[in-house]
Amino acid sequence: MIRKAVVTSIAAALGLTSLAAQAADQVLNVYSARHYQTDEALYGNFTKQTGIKVNRIEAKEDELLERLRNEGANSPADVFVTVDASRLAKADEMGLFAPVKSATLEARIPAHLRTDTWIAFSTRARVIVYNKDTVKAEQVQNYEDLANPALKGLVCTRSGSHPYNLSLGAALIEHNGAAKTEEWARALVANFARAPRGGDTDQIRGVAAGECGVAIANSYYFARLMNSTRPEDQKVVESVGYVWPNQQGVGTHINVSGAGMLKTAPNKEAAVKFLEDLASDEAQVYFADGNNEWPAVPTVKVNNPALDKLGAFKADTLPMTKLANSVAEAQRIYDRAGYR
Ligand code: FE
Repeated sequence: MIRKAVVTSIAAALGLTSLAAQAADQVLNVYSARHYQTDEALYGNFTKQTGIKVNRIEAKEDELLERLRNEGANSPADVFVTVDASRLAKADEMGLFAPVKSATLEARIPAHLRTDTWIAFSTRARVIVYNKDTVKAEQVQNYEDLANPALKGLVCTRSGSHPYNLSLGAALIEHNGAAKTEEWARALVANFARAPRGGDTDQIRGVAAGECGVAIANSYYFARLMNSTRPEDQKVVESVGYVWPNQQGVGTHINVSGAGMLKTAPNKEAAVKFLEDLASDEAQVYFADGNNEWPAVPTVKVNNPALDKLGAFKADTLPMTKLANSVAEAQRIYDRAGYR
């Protein structure tokens, strides 16, 4: 108390405005499911530029969502940062986000990568990975091809309930309709080499080992293996090929890392500033590079050899708002199709 009084009187003596004194006390509480070294620099820069101190709570994606649900109106969280559109959609459906109106965000982030309540800050692609000995690239040019009976006993994926696959299903519903997507899901399940288990990297390894002929995986998992200096990872990369799916049609399914301001945010002004900062050139590079993703802001250039190696492709521009609308439907379809 005394110390604060002294500081206040010194500030007054120096002629500092009370606004500046307030800024020194400003904090921002970020709940983040991301934990990359590059993110440290990102938060540090924000504090340097704005004087706003960032408190970070890091935990697994679904744990944070649960925590926000439990804390309710008493949550100290200002911003929720997480991966995958279906998780962001879920948070939105739970009524956690407040709408953000920002000319900066509207100018920087392409319209299809934002909704009224949350914004995508980086993108990743869902690619098809195949075993060069057992499957030909021509057989697996589209997600729809994975349902072809010719691939019986060859297809591997992680759980159908996982957000990555729910988002893909939601995109397929938007493009092909629910009935066609249900047919696809049933035929996909009929083609499984094994019951879904493990993460995307496990599917890629399964393809390399020959246990699977073809799998779907997020691009950064493949980039991570490409970047790895471990001989066993290099062997994996050598024995598999990858396809950017649906290049003749709507383009490859894109997912995102994103963030939104919470409805109960105690520091709303700081929250909007932070979201706007995430869209800056510098933050975009940090944010995307941390996990070998692409910046959401199209004018931002990254210097990432792993991404260069992956090459260029046509990305699906399905609006995230539309994708979000079909996530629940995708889960119901997968449940009926036995895609667990
Ligand atoms: Fe992931």
